[in-house]
Amino acid sequence: MKWLTDIAAGRQLCLHCRKLHPLGVHTCDRCGSAVHQRIPHSIPMTWSLAITAVLFLIPANLLPMMVVKSIAGEDAGTIMDGVIYFLEHGEAGIGIVIFTASVFVPFFKLTVIFYLLLLVYLKRYQRALFGLKLFRIIHFIGKWSMLDIFVVALMVGLVQFKNLATIVTGPAAIAFMLAVVATMFATEFFDPRLLFDTEPEAQNERPDTPTQGITHA
Ligand SMILES: [Zn+2]
Repeated sequence: MKWLTDIAAGRQLCLHCRKLHPLGVHTCDRCGSAVHQRIPHSIPMTWSLAITAVLFLIPANLLPMMVVKSIAGEDAGTIMDGVIYFLEHGEAGIGIVIFTASVFVPFFKLTVIFYLLLLVYLKRYQRALFGLKLFRIIHFIGKWSMLDIFVVALMVGLVQFKNLATIVTGPAAIAFMLAVVATMFATEFFDPRLLFDTEPEAQNERPDTPTQGITHA
């Protein structure tokens, strides 16, 4: 599979409104967004933000997400404790929602980001379309990222309502929020056009020299 990239065509695309611009344009005249042929420092920024997110996800899952204070004493629970709590108390629906938003989605997003980074690193441009589809999925989910935080708030509210106990969010909530934010920025920094570049380092150096895998129209 060969791709005609904007680099090969000597153009640059506005990622926001999809308008094609000639080289040398820095601001899109249709939507006002900054126009780059490729997002600057896309790969190192995406790597570091994704690794940061993984580092925050560890305490987010191991430390208590909420601390329940009742007359019986103090009880701290992690995200999974919360999920198990709802499953055991006949609230499987809520348990599944919390598991999806707090465990499955963050891990899925990060797995996809690392996969995309590997595709670019290994120059697997045959997988570019598949990678682009995955990117669009996590980009779409990204718009609902703060849902994860709302779910934690909802969980606290529900337990509070049912147990008549005092509940405060634990340290995991902050770690979790930071992991969500780092993942969101990692997605924003990743430039999906890199998936289609066979030689991302050699940007518009030799526009008239065909590079492997890029066709000229
Ligand atoms: Zn634009």
